[in-house]
Order: sequence, then C-alpha cells, then structure tokens
Amino acid sequence: MIPSPRPPLGRLRAAALAAGFFALTLLGAPHASLGGDARIEPPIMVVDLHVDLPWQVHFKGRSPDLTEGHARLAALKDGGYGGIVFPIYLPDKTHKDGAHIEDADAVLATIEKIIAHNPAFLPLGSAFAEPGRISTFLAIEGAGAFAADVSQIDRFIDHGLRLVSPAHGKNSPLSSSATGERVDFGLTAVGKEFCERVYAKGALVDVSHVSDAAFADIVIIAARHGAPIVATHSNARAVAKMPRNLTDDQLRIIAATGGVAGVNFHAPFVTGGADATLDDVVKQVEHLVKIAGIEHVAVGSDFDGGITPPVGLEDASTFPALAAALIRRGMSHDDVLRIFSQNALRVLGWRPIAPAAPVETR
Ligand SMILES: [Zn+2]
Repeated sequence: MIPSPRPPLGRLRAAALAAGFFALTLLGAPHASLGGDARIEPPIMVVDLHVDLPWQVHFKGRSPDLTEGHARLAALKDGGYGGIVFPIYLPDKTHKDGAHIEDADAVLATIEKIIAHNPAFLPLGSAFAEPGRISTFLAIEGAGAFAADVSQIDRFIDHGLRLVSPAHGKNSPLSSSATGERVDFGLTAVGKEFCERVYAKGALVDVSHVSDAAFADIVIIAARHGAPIVATHSNARAVAKMPRNLTDDQLRIIAATGGVAGVNFHAPFVTGGADATLDDVVKQVEHLVKIAGIEHVAVGSDFDGGITPPVGLEDASTFPALAAALIRRGMSHDDVLRIFSQNALRVLGWRPIAPAAPVETR
C-alpha cells in the first residue's frame, strides 16, 4: 500500500538544526574541485545513518580514543563527516535469553563516554552545528529487549533516541527479522504497541533488518503518525538479491512517505556476492535514486559493523572518492549533498504531527 501524503518536515528544533547544517554545507560548495579528481575536495558533508563504533568500544575492546578502525577520528575528518548516528546495538547473544534493557543503558553510557572523550563530537541531540565538529544522534539496533516493558523506551527517546529497529539478525519478541528462521509474521502484538509508542513519542522505527511482513506492518502504523519510513542501512534487492535489502516496491513506499534508504557498504549487500568495488556502490546508489528519487537516498555505511567494505571505499575517509565517482556519472554537487547529508538530516529532524484538537460534536 502507498500511504498518504508526505508529512511536513520536522518542527522548530529540526529547522534550527537543518539551518545550521545548510549554512555549513554551503561553505565548501562553490570551490569544490570537479575535474577528473579521484576525490572531491573539500569533502561534501556526510551524515552517516549507521556506524557501529559503540559496538567496537563496548563489546570489542576498542579504545575510546578512536585511533583505529573504519571510523577512526582521522578518517571521519578526511571523509567530511558532519553527523553520525551511533546505534546501541544489542546482540541477540548478549545473554542466554537475549539482550536486556539494562544492556541498552550500558551501551548508552559507552556512547556518552565516547562523545565526552573526543571534542570532535557534539553532545547527543545538540540543536546546532559547528564547523569541524560532528553532530551525534542515537539509535537502537535490535530492540527486542524492550518487549519486557515497552514504556522503558520513553526515557531513551527523552535522551535523544531518533531511530529504533525492532529486530536484528533473528526474530525478536517485537518483530520477525529479514534473516529470521520464520518470516511469515510481521510485528508481534507487543511489537505493534512498541512501534506506536516510538512514533507517538517522536522517534522513528528503522526498517533495516526487519522482514517484509514487518515492513508492511510498520508502514500502516507510520501512516497514522505521518512518519517517514526509514531504512538506515539497506540497499536495493533488485541489484543485490539479499533478504536484508529493499524491494523496488518498498523503495517507492519509502519515497511516498518522505523517508530514506541509507546505502550500506557491506560487499554482499552491495553486489550479492563476496566482493564489491566503489563502482558497485555507485550502481546501488543509481538504482536507489532511479526508483526512490534523489530526496530519498542517504548513507548508512555500517562502518565498523564487521563489514567487508568495497575496494575503493575502505573506510570513512573515502567518501570524497564516492562523491567524485557520482559526479563523474553526471550527478550534481547538490545531488551528492542530498544523498550524503541533507536527506538524512530531514528524517532525523522529524517530529510527530500534533494530535488534532477534539471535534466539538454539539
Ligand atoms: Zn545492521
């Protein structure tokens, strides 16, 4: 189904945030070198919808100094990062019975530690942008733990949570997964309650990782709240036949709701095979743009999420090479800017429509 009209963009806070970003993004634009360069310099600003740094620091022992990995600080700077979404990823195997809500609190504390430790990052949810610093946004990847008490999501949203996915690689108590054992159901009853609550409180459900049936259930709930459908890190299934990727019909729904699909750099999701190159990512972007439109494609690299990055896009520093390749293929600087940051900022700034005033019947 195609839901109703595109919702209005976010409200005051989002507008302030976006205005700051637009001013910043204009700074570099007029002098960007567009020749046969392998990289566009200065970089076009990136707002990446999915970077698994918190997982590395919280679960894998990486130093919060961020001197290593795909998303080390120096690479973020060279790549032109102006914003980054930090997911609280809750691995299904955290405990015998899955992850617990307290695990989300513990990862959030790690995210706060990473941000406090590195002046390059602005605090979570800062409603302003600053040249040379990176805005940070909070997400949850695999929120099955919250089935135990959906009201616990409120305090995370109050803390700045913008995006939450109801399942990861396996079916969760909230939702079936695209890669779950059984995908003939979508959201569970508590999953529907959870998604209603997320939208009503002003955050967005992330459809990356959920099954096609859950995607369809989420679309119905999102429409009631005038919310865009967002897949933070999912590619086109027509180009790479993986259940984690989006069908063309799903891409059209994302576009109709004002949402975005964030291009994922994991090689199997890019090509369907073991390897990928920068040119393969360009093909994904071109297909996403062809089906969803230029305003509905973003980036969700999945850097530091255990991915196999494409040749030519080895880490966060390589975004200017992707920009150069897209521009060589005929895309304008402004179009690349939309894909790299503006479309993501639009959905990150979403707030629910105020409920209509009760109608006087007599
Ligand atoms: Zn993921």
